[in-house]
Amino acid sequence: MSSVPDPKPVAAADAPAEAAAPMHFIRQIVAADVQQGRNGGRVHTRFPPEPNGYLHIGHAKAICIDFGMAKEFGGLCNLRMDDTNPSKEEVEYVDSIQEDVRWLGFDWFGDVRYASDYFGACYEYAEALIQAGKAFVCDLTAEQMREHRGTLTVPGKDSPFRERPVAENLDLFRRMRAGEFADGVRTLRAKIDMNSPNIHMRDPVIYRGLRASHHRTGEAWLIYPMYDYAHPIEDALEGITHSLCTLEFEIHRPLYDWVLDQIPEFFAEAQKKWSALTLTEPARPRQYEFARLAITYTIMSKRKLLELVKSNLVEGWDDPRMPTLSGMRRRGYTPEAIRAFCEKVGVTKYNSVTDFALLEHCLREDLNQRALRYMAVLDPIKVVITNYPEGQVDELDAVNNPADPAAGTRQVPFSRELYVERADFMENPPKKFFRLAPGREVRLRWGYLITCTEAVKDAAGNITELRCTYDPATRGGNAPDGRKVQGTIHWVSAAQALDATVRLYDRLFRVEEPGATDGVDFKTEMNPDSLKILTAKVEPALANAKPGVPVQFERTGYFCADKASAPGRLLFNRTVTLRDSWIKAASKA
Ligand code: ATP
Ligand code: MG
Repeated sequence: MSSVPDPKPVAAADAPAEAAAPMHFIRQIVAADVQQGRNGGRVHTRFPPEPNGYLHIGHAKAICIDFGMAKEFGGLCNLRMDDTNPSKEEVEYVDSIQEDVRWLGFDWFGDVRYASDYFGACYEYAEALIQAGKAFVCDLTAEQMREHRGTLTVPGKDSPFRERPVAENLDLFRRMRAGEFADGVRTLRAKIDMNSPNIHMRDPVIYRGLRASHHRTGEAWLIYPMYDYAHPIEDALEGITHSLCTLEFEIHRPLYDWVLDQIPEFFAEAQKKWSALTLTEPARPRQYEFARLAITYTIMSKRKLLELVKSNLVEGWDDPRMPTLSGMRRRGYTPEAIRAFCEKVGVTKYNSVTDFALLEHCLREDLNQRALRYMAVLDPIKVVITNYPEGQVDELDAVNNPADPAAGTRQVPFSRELYVERADFMENPPKKFFRLAPGREVRLRWGYLITCTEAVKDAAGNITELRCTYDPATRGGNAPDGRKVQGTIHWVSAAQALDATVRLYDRLFRVEEPGATDGVDFKTEMNPDSLKILTAKVEPALANAKPGVPVQFERTGYFCADKASAPGRLLFNRTVTLRDSWIKAASKA
């Protein structure tokens, strides 16, 4: 355990005023608890991921709530790997989880904890429950147990082993631990109530025999506690005050409380050993449930995300199309944007699906503030400025970020040969087309006004080059005679431009709720055109673009250098386009 000094409990008056943060029911509960001095006025939460995959945007919501509530009320938040399930956990996942939580901007109290740290305590408590006549060893098979359990409308039936004497239960449980019985032959069950309307209270299994090797405890344990039993114990031992989780656990809450309320003295004692805090009074955690985050066009199940990785349908957990935090980071999402999104989604008690456009809206709002602007031509066609001297290079001043005056300016080279976007020229344009066309004048961003004089074609009739003239009196983009030019296009100077591979992404799934239709494999709902790779021409200032630093390519979107990008072989991922469909949708509504 760590030797972090005990924090002072925070009085309500000391808690930071969160004027900007909207009130939600969890914030309300925590504030009231602090005010009433419950658990000595402490706030201590935990984030308990199962290390069987990478964290995704849904976890970000839980992280923002768990760590966020602790931070807001001057409390602590533990990071605890839920490794009660021995077969699946992997070290790679444990590492990635820590990296992602830190990247999101949070830090946990003391060392990373593991559910497996508490296997000993869970076992001791199980023996205590047996001794108190509150748990029994059951020999029913899984199949028989299902039959006994009953249904929502039919009460359950008592197990024939329910009244086993304490000594026999204890002996059998110890032999289970020693691995004397085959997996699945015997279980330890809580003795609660087979008539309970809540099926989870019908003598639930709390331990099962499993002769599996565990990534941390090896072969030390041949029995493993069930999550519903272990979780409240872990919470109590760590001194957690508010155990925040998603809605599907609501129906498990009576069991959570049952586990803690059988032998409260046990926890008062065990907390001294485990909590890493000197508690002035025993902690009694309470569970509160909030709605899971779901987003349109997005899969949020680790099992399904793993399937995409395993079947090579994506390039790995951090594929920029994945909803994983590592994928989003590589794509160019910022922690600030994700946190703002989580705050906007809010904390409620009803499940709903959030529009992906809201996430992109939060992203654009953040990137607009921080991304420096550059010019990059994604689908280049050459322009020759016929009246510009050969060999001459002009350095033009360009504003780095109109949204941030402190970002300053840079110089952009201009010369006789340029590239512009192929789509910015039309041979026979409609009236409202304000870009390049024969005889039409357009503004080059930060540059001059140019007029197209000719489109050069190859034998097949494809346009290969545009010829234009520039007006030397229009440096900076304005005509001294005040003539109006509507269109402004971006460009790069051919001689100085750098080649860059650019990856444009579209949503990974074609349907709004992938995986929601019975009998349809979610993998068949993938968008076949989710990745387009281009070779672009970018301005020389991007030569040293750093992975993780967002940039805007004027008119084509926000981008970010990929982790594989390097000087000489630039590789950019498009984070998001510039057009915000959320604002449009919101203003229509
Ligand atoms: P999966 O079903 O994909 O395996 P999980 O809920 O089992 O997800 P955990 O690793 O157990 O994944 O989750 C850790 C914490 O994150 C839990 O408290 C869980 O409630 C929360 N969480 C997981 N998914 C979401 C989501 N989509 N929205 C909000 N919280 C989530
Ligand atoms: Mg889980």
